[in-house]
Amino acid sequence: TNTLDSVVINYYGVPPAVAGQAEGYQLKTVATFPMIYSLSESYEDRDWWPCKADMQDRIDSLDIIISTPSAHTPTTNGVLVSTVTAGANKISTFKHRYPIPTYLVAVGVTRYNKTTRSVTINGKTMPVEYFISQGRTSTAAAITAMDKCLQELVVFSEKWGEYPFIKEKYGMYEFGWGGGMEHQTNSAMGWSTMSSPGVIAHELAHQWFGDKVTFSTWNHLWLAEGFARYGEAMAAEFVSGTGNPVSIRQGFKTASQSTTLRGFGCYIPNASITTSDVLWSSNYGSSVYERGAMVVSMLRTLMGDDKFFQACRNYLNDPALAYKSASTQDLQNHMEAMLDGYDLTPFFNAYVYGSGFPTTSVNWFNPSNGKVLNIAIASQTRTSAGSTTYFPNVIPLRVQGAGGEDTLIVLYDINGNTLAKAGRGITGVGTGNVLSYSLSFVPTTVTFDPYVTTLSSGSATKLTVLDLRVTDFTVQPAATGNIAQLTLDGNSLNSAVILERSGDGVRYVELGAMTEQAATSAERRYVLHDAKPLAGINYYRAKYRNASGAFVYSKVVTMGSKAGSYFTLLTNPAAKVIRLGNPSTAGSKPTQFM
Ligand SMILES: [Zn+2]
Repeated sequence: TNTLDSVVINYYGVPPAVAGQAEGYQLKTVATFPMIYSLSESYEDRDWWPCKADMQDRIDSLDIIISTPSAHTPTTNGVLVSTVTAGANKISTFKHRYPIPTYLVAVGVTRYNKTTRSVTINGKTMPVEYFISQGRTSTAAAITAMDKCLQELVVFSEKWGEYPFIKEKYGMYEFGWGGGMEHQTNSAMGWSTMSSPGVIAHELAHQWFGDKVTFSTWNHLWLAEGFARYGEAMAAEFVSGTGNPVSIRQGFKTASQSTTLRGFGCYIPNASITTSDVLWSSNYGSSVYERGAMVVSMLRTLMGDDKFFQACRNYLNDPALAYKSASTQDLQNHMEAMLDGYDLTPFFNAYVYGSGFPTTSVNWFNPSNGKVLNIAIASQTRTSAGSTTYFPNVIPLRVQGAGGEDTLIVLYDINGNTLAKAGRGITGVGTGNVLSYSLSFVPTTVTFDPYVTTLSSGSATKLTVLDLRVTDFTVQPAATGNIAQLTLDGNSLNSAVILERSGDGVRYVELGAMTEQAATSAERRYVLHDAKPLAGINYYRAKYRNASGAFVYSKVVTMGSKAGSYFTLLTNPAAKVIRLGNPSTAGSKPTQFM
């Protein structure tokens, strides 16, 4: 034990045939020249080289020695350290000195032209290489597009921490598959994708998400694809000439909400990861990208840039995860840590493990036409595909004023009746359906999800009814105790309503939240049963939030201790006519006082 030794494995043969979505080891004619390339994701690494294919147990480094005809150029992970001529062939030796998962080991061989660039990150200069088949005659557009990776390397390093393989290189090489593949330090690119800003950014983003920190099992693939997909929008956000980030996110959102994908979460069940063909043919193979990207977008929107990117860096640099593997829980832990431990389990359950999406109606109003914005959740509906009973919802709202004022606020709708301010962490989590924001201007327009950063559909509507209107507050005797009922105008905002009781009419204590009954367009009713009234006189009042978000009280109703000796105020607030009825006498005609 505790003795290092070495094992030599001689390994040769013909890689097995693959079908469907699996590629494995390929020999094809590409751009008129023969090309050898490999694409191992997800299970074809073992088809062409001996390896322990386990993301949770990486090899710590790798030497790759490739013998080719002299006219051909090999490219692979890491750094080329020597080329030795051997007759008509040459032997090229590469060394890669970072831990690497086996599915990210890859080779490409054909008649390549090589283009070399360099990038400096944190004062460290690193080569960047493009390998394009000599069969391509018009390469300027591809090279221009790929050159965007130089700025993206800098931006992604700022946001996510230093490029993970800074001591070696970043490369992109042409291969014979139609998409891109994030081989470590050396992304493989189908010819058309070499001109695609999205694929260029995507494969680069994978160097952090997928390569530096790999999903621990294929169930958690979204940890790589969701962030890489989101990286396409991030590149567009920070590097000019790589697209419109809003349009790009709209693509993710539309796809996530499509009837094809809405029934699929991000976490892939075991039945859908059995083979490469099963995985990549499944709708999960798309959902991990599209929904995954929107999950990332929602986390950023919820937390705000400072906390979100710090959480990303903490996750990527966590010694237990860096150059190792992570599960969804590991990501959740790092996000929560930047939210002072706020529990994101309902969020992850709804969006990562669950499927479907919400549609939210938001009401807004500014009392007295002031510089205040009050927001309430009017409703949330859910796609039938979802099993989630209520989506904790990240709601970005663009607020504009008549003088060109323009700001973004974010709220977190936790369950419809518990709201929090968000966008810079989560603050002020409170019961009650109204959130109030002080503004420096009078709001005139509020727009739901203006920049397409949340998975939720929705709308924001200015309320014309500005306040809660009590139409009735009654207390009736029950078989035991008393039942209090508050009735609000049907146009009122729904609000947490608390019943309070006092024995002296001065000092009130909360009895509990009144339960909202099924609302109608005409009224909203809240009820609570006081099973153990005080001996003597009981004073009851209801407490609720008004349109400004402040607590206000209903009128007080008094109940005596003996049957027949109490009255209930039937019109409340008292209008011109006050009617008093004895509720213990069925059918008794109320006494009217003018
Ligand atoms: Zn990807």
